[in-house]
Amino acid sequence: MAAMAPGTVQLHIFSWNMKLAKYVKDGQPEKAMQLFQQMQREGMSPDTFTFVQVINACAGLGALENGRLVHDQLIQSGCESNIFLGNSLVDMYAKCGSIEDAWRVFNKMPSRDVVTWTAMILGHVKCRQGQKALELFQQMQQEGVQPNTVTFVGVLNACASVVALEEGRCVNQQIVKCGWESDVFVGSSLVDMYVKCGSMEDAWRVFNKMPSRNVVTWTAMISGHVNCGQGQKALELFRQMQQEGVRPDSVTFVGVLNACASVVALEEGKCVHQQIVECGWDSDVFVANSLIDMYAKCGSMEDAWRVFNKMPSRDVVTWTTILGGCAMHGHGKEALKYFEQMCEEGVQPNDITFICLLSACSHSGLVDEGMHCYASMVTDYMISAKLEHYTCMVDLLGRAGRLQEAENMVMAVPCKPHLAAWMALLGACRIRGNVEMAERVAKRILEMEPNNAAVYVLLSNIYAAAGNRLLCENVERQRKENGVKKQQGRTWIEVNNEVHTFVVGDQDHPQMTEIHAELQRLSGLMHDAGYVPCTKFVDVEEEEEEQVLHLCHHSEKLAIAFGLINTAPGTPLRIRKNLRVCEDCHTSTKFISKIVGRAIMVRDVNRFHHFEDGVCSCMDYW
Ligand SMILES: [Zn+2]
Ligand SMILES: [Zn+2]
Repeated sequence: MAAMAPGTVQLHIFSWNMKLAKYVKDGQPEKAMQLFQQMQREGMSPDTFTFVQVINACAGLGALENGRLVHDQLIQSGCESNIFLGNSLVDMYAKCGSIEDAWRVFNKMPSRDVVTWTAMILGHVKCRQGQKALELFQQMQQEGVQPNTVTFVGVLNACASVVALEEGRCVNQQIVKCGWESDVFVGSSLVDMYVKCGSMEDAWRVFNKMPSRNVVTWTAMISGHVNCGQGQKALELFRQMQQEGVRPDSVTFVGVLNACASVVALEEGKCVHQQIVECGWDSDVFVANSLIDMYAKCGSMEDAWRVFNKMPSRDVVTWTTILGGCAMHGHGKEALKYFEQMCEEGVQPNDITFICLLSACSHSGLVDEGMHCYASMVTDYMISAKLEHYTCMVDLLGRAGRLQEAENMVMAVPCKPHLAAWMALLGACRIRGNVEMAERVAKRILEMEPNNAAVYVLLSNIYAAAGNRLLCENVERQRKENGVKKQQGRTWIEVNNEVHTFVVGDQDHPQMTEIHAELQRLSGLMHDAGYVPCTKFVDVEEEEEEQVLHLCHHSEKLAIAFGLINTAPGTPLRIRKNLRVCEDCHTSTKFISKIVGRAIMVRDVNRFHHFEDGVCSCMDYW
């Protein structure tokens, strides 16, 4: 014990405790811990209040070991325990992620209040035990303890984590009864819960009723719309949020970048990038990874590479994202170089990294390299192959014409169902024109999934390509008899910072007359250039009415014509399509790119097609 210097007045325990409490309250737990040590050096014996503050400081620091030491000290000190001390201990252990310790203290407490229960509920949410958190909430109410706003936020997070929509709705009713629906934190958690449980109507209902909204509320809505495929709506919400003066955070930016990627809004994405730089978020790895992904998906690998090269540090997601971009654009050689560089920098690849690498090899026809990577994944990195890896390999072998090896690979897939691998094989049969294998494969797929429209389309196209009109029509009839509907074709194009959507046989667009006139004009020029419409192929798109079956009504053709008449000559066009590009659209786009002298980029479900001067980057294998 340190001796007091003559003349100094030892601070009263009360003053120490006040100072400690202030540090904890101001969010300076390190200073609180230092003060606690100083206090002990100076010979002060902590009392119950001191312990409460120090345990709270440990909770704030997430310092489990320190917390345990303080807990031991508390037991030795003989300080009288009370509910505040118990609550602090439960909270500290829960926040430090040691649920067992929290339970031990919880079970020993003679009485518990809302703070005790809430700490336990939040602890379980943090440890991803949402179901257990909901059970605790029930139990708490059975014991007659009334929840507060913090409890409700925790319970809503629990509902979101286990996608418990019905339970979430019950909690919502309770919140309304307690009059807390207008609380911005509770309201935001409600919106987030509904979004994560997939009910956008409920999310909108709560959102519209909120008297004020913060960044969490807006971000939940933005991410929710991106996840249910409404990228345009997400972008609208982002603009509205800024008009209302709410500043975006890193999570908002990630959501908005995903929205740009989903609708191929490159110009909008660039504006968002500018804002990110202004807010200083561009050095954040999480945000930068989303920027790379956005640029890759919007067709600009140059911008993706620029962001990648500027990053001060890169994680496995960064490398995987850049590899995924290379795969989408068919840059197989670059993908292999990046992979090598990644290994040199000591970043450990994961299973997703290999999916991107293998699909890059497959999209560039690098068969030997792909086989080598696959072998290395299994032996050097001890990553066991999943369905996605098998599918890439089937695709790789199949495209290269090694169909028998590809089929053997599908047969060897241990994980079931392995529909994706069979689909890849059927796709390869189409490219290679192997009717006999295609029939066998189609049969297998339809046994697994009788309503798979893509199988019918692929099979009928394989027959059509082989010149067997009869069998082709047969398959189409079968499809209709079985009531299997094709997906509706949908295309997005960004023109002058605005995203426009087109569907097959679209008649509603205000510029429809001009669009048709442009298609008419192009069609004449294409015929002169030697274009023959490939009508022998069956439509991949849903036919609404028989008269719109005309090939020139396909949504991507409408989008291309719209883009041409609304942009200056020479401007590249960027388009996204929700299905695979059809044979005729692929051929037509090649002709159009040469006739009008424009680069046209089309992202379909599988990959990017860069059309320029009459050729496509996919070399007609897609
Ligand atoms: Zn088409
Ligand atoms: Zn192509």
